[in-house]
Amino acid sequence: MCSGKLSRLRHTLAFRLTLWYAGIFTLSSLVAFFFFYLLVTSDIRERTDQELLGQVSQFSTLLALEGIDTVRRVAITEAQAAGVKKIFFRLLYPNGQAFSSSNMSYWKDISIRRIAIERLLEGGSYVFETIAIPQRRHKVRILYSLIGPGIILQLGQSMESYSRFIEAFRTIFIATMVLLIILAAVVGWFMARRALAGVEAVTRTAQSISGRSLEERVPVKPTGDEIDQLATTFNQMLDRIQTLVTSIREMRDNIAHDLRSPITRIRGIAEVTLTTGKSLAEYEAMAANTIEECDRLLDMINTMLMISKAEAGLDHLIREKVDLAGLTREACKLFEPTAEDNGIALSCHAPDRSHFFGDTRMIQRMLSNLLDNAIKYTPPGGSVNVSVGENDAQVFLTIKDTGIGISPKDLPHIFERFYRCDQSRAQTGIGLGLSLAGAIARAHGGDITATSTPNQGSIFTVTLPKSLPSHS
Ligand code: ADP
Repeated sequence: MCSGKLSRLRHTLAFRLTLWYAGIFTLSSLVAFFFFYLLVTSDIRERTDQELLGQVSQFSTLLALEGIDTVRRVAITEAQAAGVKKIFFRLLYPNGQAFSSSNMSYWKDISIRRIAIERLLEGGSYVFETIAIPQRRHKVRILYSLIGPGIILQLGQSMESYSRFIEAFRTIFIATMVLLIILAAVVGWFMARRALAGVEAVTRTAQSISGRSLEERVPVKPTGDEIDQLATTFNQMLDRIQTLVTSIREMRDNIAHDLRSPITRIRGIAEVTLTTGKSLAEYEAMAANTIEECDRLLDMINTMLMISKAEAGLDHLIREKVDLAGLTREACKLFEPTAEDNGIALSCHAPDRSHFFGDTRMIQRMLSNLLDNAIKYTPPGGSVNVSVGENDAQVFLTIKDTGIGISPKDLPHIFERFYRCDQSRAQTGIGLGLSLAGAIARAHGGDITATSTPNQGSIFTVTLPKSLPSHS
């Protein structure tokens, strides 16, 4: 169980972020330490060399002023004062033979380098070398220098302080690195958890959502960072899913409620004819009634399918250049005979062209639904005025009638599916025309509104953007 938890932890983003953070932090600390180490060690070596050079110049002055015996005496005294294990000196002839030295019992392993002497004789003023003596902790820095004619000084100094620094540095380095890595891991883990807390909230909400709890949303903080953008996008997606599920539920209820009545009617007609019908005329009437009811049903089903298609949004729309003015003129021409038959004056005011991007068939369907309603709900002697207009961004369609109007109580509901106002029940209709018109307008990124005064008339206004919104 514990190993399962560990392996799950290993696969978390927080764990990987922590590793990356600690890794980068450790690497940069290592680089910084390395450069610091180079700087300090070269400084210590430089100081040791300066000390040796200072001593050489002192001996060379002493030789010039007071002779070789004084140099020998002073050198022995200084070597003893500094400590036999700290420094040593040898005075050499140019052939490399030593003619005087400090106490060399501790330094007997240190030989005289011919190559260094040769370099001095070739004109070099001094030669440095660093040597390590087996089984000794500290290295030795040695300086060869010509301090007078035919006299070479070999001066050596233990690099104890240098080695001590390296040892201390190593201890401090390891301790600091361990601390830094632990700190980096803790801080990295804390930061990663903090950053990913929002993602966890999204995950928790997603897990808690079921068909019934679609109204849950991820809390969004006002910081506007990536996590908040994720939460906002997730919430928007939930909004869309909720709208879709609600419309599917409504559709299901509509089907159950509104499709059942015509089917019950068809069944009733058939049953009555079967039990009481005797003549061919009665059977013919039954067939005619059945066909009429079936047509209504088909019309209803097709309209509902079209509403679903429009509500599904832009994906199902054909994007083409549509001339709203032209389509409106055509629609008015088509409805003119019906208007005439009903004694209604139908007029159309549209510019030569009024272009926008949309789906021609859907717009034609919307136009015919609105015109059909305007003529249907206007008594003889009335009028229907259709006009088209536009501005830089939108096109407008207005259909104004002098019909029966809509009561303020009904007005907010007329775009709902299957809603029919009481006073219009005398007219044929299924209550889906305005729902479809509304869905089409919304699918184009536009809107449809209605204002009305009972017994005076109604105005329906459709607003459509000239370019379709991008897919969401
Ligand atoms: P219907 O098939 O009943 O016409 P619609 O969805 O087209 O269905 O319209 C819904 C209801 O809105 C209609 O039943 C009617 O009561 C009312 N309505 C729509 N257009 C008009 C109008 N121009 N004048 C008066 N009432 C209207």
